[in-house]
Amino acid sequence: MTKQYLNKHLATAKPSATYKVMDRVAALRAAGINIISLCAGEPDFDTPEHIRTAAIAAINGGHTRYTQVAGTRALREAVASKFRRENGLDVQWQDTIVCSGGKQVIFNALAATLNEGDEVIVPAPYWVSYPEIVQLCGARPVVVPCGEDSGLKLTAEKLAAAITPQTRWLILNSPSNPTGAVYSRAELQALAQVLLANPHVLVLSDDIYEHLLFDDQTFFTLAQVEPQLQARTLTMNGVSKAYAMTGWRIGYATGPHWLLEAMEKLQGQQTSGASAISQQAALAALTGPQDFISRSREVFETRRDRMVRQLNEMPGLSCAQPGGAFYVFVCCEELLGKTSPAGKLLASDEDVALALLNEAGVAVVQGSAFGLAPYIRIAYALDDASLLQACAAIREFCTAVMHGS
Ligand code: GLU
Repeated sequence: MTKQYLNKHLATAKPSATYKVMDRVAALRAAGINIISLCAGEPDFDTPEHIRTAAIAAINGGHTRYTQVAGTRALREAVASKFRRENGLDVQWQDTIVCSGGKQVIFNALAATLNEGDEVIVPAPYWVSYPEIVQLCGARPVVVPCGEDSGLKLTAEKLAAAITPQTRWLILNSPSNPTGAVYSRAELQALAQVLLANPHVLVLSDDIYEHLLFDDQTFFTLAQVEPQLQARTLTMNGVSKAYAMTGWRIGYATGPHWLLEAMEKLQGQQTSGASAISQQAALAALTGPQDFISRSREVFETRRDRMVRQLNEMPGLSCAQPGGAFYVFVCCEELLGKTSPAGKLLASDEDVALALLNEAGVAVVQGSAFGLAPYIRIAYALDDASLLQACAAIREFCTAVMHGS
């Protein structure tokens, strides 16, 4: 099979950078090499017991057949109730859809709406898959660089400057993967003013890290801050990060009917309804005890404090304090132009990530994959002992690079 047979959009899209590093880690581990992985964005906790029990009961209780494409009525009721309770959105079960992971929500929404020539505004740093999904749908990602001067966040001025008559969507993600940056109510209000003046722009609000929010901050989502935007906002979330359920693959969303219907139509010709067993598990997650959320948030906040302190003490690295998620986006500019302990020139953040993997046994993802260089993304979703070990290895690597070993 040669490349000429490939779909033209797929041929030019990049593979998922996060999965690429995860695959590299798996290959090294299979070869017997010890790697501490700070590359995968998933909680290290087990799925809570009551959720696992619900899934086993689902299997034994016969929930093993197709469900409706948009999800079971019970789960959609629970999703609607979550949006009402936690986000103040006026949502009924008919205003929801359940998909096989957050990624499918995004894919469905973009594939259902984009045509050649359409533009999608993607503030950078962005999650690796946003621009690639846009590209796979035949449209053009318009990447808006958002540096440290704006807290790695999109501002109203930058948004206004990026909008053209071809703009179809804006993708917002707070707390952010890969930076952990959180949009305040005032910041969302400022963006909302620009969006109100541009009624042709839809908004995808990716709230998957909603519950991983530190320093007693309150979470806000765009459609809540500006209800006039609810009619053209797809507010998406999922159980992966909140309930440590990444492998169960359940994402969900609420948005305008016309869009949900289009997404359902697409999904009905593709994967159909999400796994019936996972839907029962997600139902238990959304309707059962919620104490897991605050416990995991506390653990992540303690880890964040430790990681940020330690990283800022390392020669050649610096990072801002993220307000949420479980990522630190670390500037590695001072390491560039120098050589690794094994003598490799560190010309880019990708070189830094590769040298950290091969020489220090620590896997991270290069910032350039998220649209901003030179940085590395560190996911601190790992137990304390492993994080301590990783920090020691990174410190040793950086010291050798900066001062020679
Ligand atoms: N969202 C996670 C990450 O950024 C999982 C991997 C992926 O889908 O990219 O690491």
